[in-house]
Amino acid sequence: MTAKVAPLELAEEAEERKNENDFPKPTLKKAKPYSWGLRNYVQLTIFLITIGIGVHFFIYFLQASGDGAITVSRPAGVEGFLPIGALMGWKLFVLTGIWDPVHPAAMVILGFAGLISLTFRKSFCGWFCPVGTLSEWLWKLGRKVFGKNYRIPVWLDFPLRSLKYLLLGFFIWTIFSMSRLALLAFLRSPYYKMSDVKMLFFFTRMSMTTCVVLAILVLASLVFRNFWCRYLCPYGALTGLLALVSPTRIQRNSDTCIECKLCSEVCPYHLPVDRKDRIISPECNGCMDCTLVCPGGNNTLELQTLGVRKKFWSPAKLGVVIIVLYVGLVYTATITGHWKSSVSEQEFRMKLQEIHMPQYTHP
Ligand code: SF4
Ligand code: SF4
Repeated sequence: MTAKVAPLELAEEAEERKNENDFPKPTLKKAKPYSWGLRNYVQLTIFLITIGIGVHFFIYFLQASGDGAITVSRPAGVEGFLPIGALMGWKLFVLTGIWDPVHPAAMVILGFAGLISLTFRKSFCGWFCPVGTLSEWLWKLGRKVFGKNYRIPVWLDFPLRSLKYLLLGFFIWTIFSMSRLALLAFLRSPYYKMSDVKMLFFFTRMSMTTCVVLAILVLASLVFRNFWCRYLCPYGALTGLLALVSPTRIQRNSDTCIECKLCSEVCPYHLPVDRKDRIISPECNGCMDCTLVCPGGNNTLELQTLGVRKKFWSPAKLGVVIIVLYVGLVYTATITGHWKSSVSEQEFRMKLQEIHMPQYTHP
């Protein structure tokens, strides 16, 4: 049993510490930041599952390309990489009540991303998205190689961060200016039915331009934290905007904060956690890494819902809630017929034969 310390005593102690000129401030090394935690295991699991889904889909594609029997089913999870079609599907659903039968899982996954962002900041990006995971691994690797991550100057950082919102704005404007008939025509088009294969070709038949762009992104991600997510990802822009109305946020108790700055050092988005009482930025991805390194004690830094200081949220609880929500949504969608594509094996096989014809180019 540890003796309970009154918050006032802790605040006084913190104040004393602040005033001690020779107080040895905690260092990044002592606080063990960047250590492998539960969130990283969740990320790794989702990443491996995504790779597994990709391989599974590739096998399905190879079997469907041949004349033999197809022994594996098409994995619906591959549709997680079709967010634009999912956004169109959601618009159609809102307008007509029709659930897109071609890539229904895309809508479920986008819905899940939106739901957890509305609830737990941009946690889809910090806990779930495999691209976000890869970005994080790259900047952590870069930190090891170069000894630090570099920061883009503020005057350039702000306009660059606007890029992802511009991209999102472009997609939303395009989709929202489409009529109901135009939406239906796109979502029933041969192109959209085979858009998962087109996406596969993006990886298996990379052009030189694609290779160069990807190489630049990888290099930039090694040097700058979450380069893709911070500047270019429209999916992240959407989850970030939704997170603005999230009732959950990082809250700092300035009475017990010893101003060590570890929180902002470790933050993947360089947010000024050590200077703000609460973090409302659309960039905060709910990773909770700042709370894990904070040596302030007495929950100086914590994830709170509706500002209630309850010491409730821990990475373990948040991780469980995110996973249970995802599994629950997928299960519900599966048993209610909102997960599996209506494109049959025969139709998929037939369309694969003619995929290079003009009707399979982007309408
Ligand atoms: S403020 Fe904290 S929870 Fe938000 S991104 Fe930064 S480290 Fe993660
Ligand atoms: S809130 Fe940030 S600056 Fe304050 S004690 Fe915690 S880690 Fe240090």
